[in-house]
Amino acid sequence: LIKPDGVARNLTGIILARIEAKGYQLVDLKMVQPNRDLLQAHYAEHEGKPFFDPLLNFMESGLLVAARFAGDRVIEGVRVLCGATDPTTAAPGTIRGDFGRDWGLAVQQNLIHASDSEESAKREIKIWLGS
Ligand code: GDP
Repeated sequence: LIKPDGVARNLTGIILARIEAKGYQLVDLKMVQPNRDLLQAHYAEHEGKPFFDPLLNFMESGLLVAARFAGDRVIEGVRVLCGATDPTTAAPGTIRGDFGRDWGLAVQQNLIHASDSEESAKREIKIWLGS
């Protein structure tokens, strides 16, 4: 998912281009106006954490771009391209390291979400792309 900060900062193209340039195949793409129910399902594992409400408010604040990529070890590879959750310390050369920073807000605005396992990928693809 390109998060609302990535879309608002006109970084959708460059973020998708990095994943494509690595060699992964873009197989589905959709712009989505998220709602609370979808976001609650997506972030169920974080319910109860202090950043949960700010996270949902942020994710609800604008359009998202949902993309599905295919390729051997794509989940692992895309997570490496994204870099660490905290954009301040994410390695240069990664998406978050090159384009993200801390804005002093209650939740990290870090441009992209990437599924972290085959199981979460299946669940999240169903939520955002419907198949
Ligand atoms: P990701 O897989 O790297 O996106 O990280 P998680 O799935 O663990 O967290 C989901 C999102 O919640 C992150 O992308 C951040 O936007 C936010 N987040 C996670 N952990 C923290 C935290 O400790 N503090 C703050 N402020 N935001 C966080």
